[in-house]
Amino acid sequence: MRKNIVAGNWKMNTTVPEGVKLAKEVNEALKDATVKCDVVIAVPFTHLTAIDAVIDQNKLGLGAENCADKKSGAFTGEVSAAMVASTGAKYVILGHSERRQYYGETAETLREKVLLALENGLKVIFCVGEVLEQRENGTYLNVVKEQIEKSLFNLSEADFGQIVLAYEPVWAIGTGKTATDDQAQEMHAFIRKTIAEKYGEVVADDTTILYGGSCKPSNAPALFAKPDVDGGLIGGASLDAASFMGIVTAF
Ligand code: PEP
Repeated sequence: MRKNIVAGNWKMNTTVPEGVKLAKEVNEALKDATVKCDVVIAVPFTHLTAIDAVIDQNKLGLGAENCADKKSGAFTGEVSAAMVASTGAKYVILGHSERRQYYGETAETLREKVLLALENGLKVIFCVGEVLEQRENGTYLNVVKEQIEKSLFNLSEADFGQIVLAYEPVWAIGTGKTATDDQAQEMHAFIRKTIAEKYGEVVADDTTILYGGSCKPSNAPALFAKPDVDGGLIGGASLDAASFMGIVTAF
């Protein structure tokens, strides 16, 4: 049975003290809430150790927002998957559209990052999604299929089991423009079918597929009610404990 997950993506927000405070607030709120999903926060590298020290990862999983495509060595400014894992983090987001768009990450670099993350025992939240032009010209299903095929379909069945997919239409990220629940369902069902064709129905049924893009407490219930939407990857709304919890409790 696949898990439902709500994961926050803090992006480049909060100082370490601010991040520790926010993580503590979410951790506390989870103690009193009835929660029917796993909850994760993905935070800046600089925050990982300090946040790991103040949360209960049995209730609130911790993740990074990226890792390097190299193991170690002379790569100034990079942070390896082993370094991320050594902080206590259990997850890493890879392939976010902001990384693809602003930092030139390609399907090939992402394939390396995924392999290194898995080698180091991290669960990968792998983002895919089309830009507005691809939505409007009708190529969006193929675009997403290709992103998955090129970066993930080299994996063994066991390794693929450590992947959480996140469908994030780029036109919906940080824009206030959410995909409708029917648009999300269409893509999620298509992604599951794509996985089934490669790894079989059982693996496809067990894969968690999150929706991301202007998800808020007000639209989360309808999105999460769709049969193939297994939770959300939450940007802006994860920076406020109350609104993040509003989404966490939407199941
Ligand atoms: C994201 O960047 O992963 C995201 C979904 O952002 P937002 O919720 O702010 O649209």
